[in-house]
Amino acid sequence: METFYPDYYSEFICTADNCPLTCCQEWKIYVDDLTKEKWKTLTPPESAGGHKKNLNSFTEKKEGQRVIRLTDDHRCPFLTKNLLCSLVLTYNADILSETCTTFPREYHDFSDHREASLMPCCPAVIDLWQQKKHLTFPKVSSVSLNPAFLLREKITALVQGDSIRLPDPSLPLMQSFYILQELYRKEEKGQSLTDAVIEDCFTPSTLSELQNAIYDLPVSVTDTIWECNELLQDLAVNYLEEGLYEEYLEPLITQAEQLSEMAEDLLLSKWDAFCLQLEAFYPLLRSFLANEMYSDLLAPDDTSTEHMLIRLQWTAIQYAAIRQALFLTYLSESAGTLSYESVRQTLVILTRMTGYEEEDIYEYLENSFESLLWDFGYLAFIMGSSL
Ligand code: SF4
Repeated sequence: METFYPDYYSEFICTADNCPLTCCQEWKIYVDDLTKEKWKTLTPPESAGGHKKNLNSFTEKKEGQRVIRLTDDHRCPFLTKNLLCSLVLTYNADILSETCTTFPREYHDFSDHREASLMPCCPAVIDLWQQKKHLTFPKVSSVSLNPAFLLREKITALVQGDSIRLPDPSLPLMQSFYILQELYRKEEKGQSLTDAVIEDCFTPSTLSELQNAIYDLPVSVTDTIWECNELLQDLAVNYLEEGLYEEYLEPLITQAEQLSEMAEDLLLSKWDAFCLQLEAFYPLLRSFLANEMYSDLLAPDDTSTEHMLIRLQWTAIQYAAIRQALFLTYLSESAGTLSYESVRQTLVILTRMTGYEEEDIYEYLENSFESLLWDFGYLAFIMGSSL
């Protein structure tokens, strides 16, 4: 079976003890059954502390899955003081769980091919995308008869864009959502998704008409900021309760809570100044969003247009929360600038926080909104159609 890779994939190198946001803390590290059996026979390294009988004693069951039990400060017990893995130092990389071996790589096995990509929740991946400026994704539609792959290819290319001088990344998200909704309606009326129908949605004149219509939508920037502020606080609440990402989230959420005290004209002038700073990161944000489209719009067991709509909604929530977090960070930085390090930290932490399993995304959307599938107006509202 052929495996497809984006152009950046082979360039990834884990920065290990130089990593500014190691993946060995503050989230679930799954232990697969094979590793669990292996670990039952292996003695823990001394640096892991405690006097447990084997490596498996460092694991626990959480929400039905076996994970490494983190220390009181939410770190992997095998992470040494100088940020190296004591399992690799004592044994070798072969004894690591599949999660540790694979991260930040991600694989999707479709019926006729395999797709590989890298996840944005690793700072070395963000560094890679920042250096490359523009990512190229494989043309899977050349081997698959399923038109959904052509549709995803068109959306990924639209979001990535063909030049680094491009407008706000929320514009292609809105265009893509509108097109997906149109195609979904056509399918509901019995029309099949064909290559010709898809191509027709992405002609330069159609996209340009759509862009003009989006820019003409009435929008209240202040209302968009308040809504995104709510979304961000809602995503953070459980993590704060569990004491995760505290160092990052506590000042951010305090800033979010204090935002209502700011006079509206001051808020808008700060927002305008922030948007100017954000422009420098549009290429990186577009690469991030294009990668989300490539890796998440289609699932091996669901290539329907409905699934694409739901995943695009989730990406829009992620993007709205990331942009809001960056705005709050910008407000708290006395120099009035937005640094690359802040953007990288925000992308990594927010994508770790929102890297939900498929069923959890559906549950979140069902519990948080009137219906699973949004109206176009809500997506445009959180994107801020002409910010
Ligand atoms: S987050 Fe990325 S760079 Fe950092 S330790 Fe993990 S894999 Fe390596």
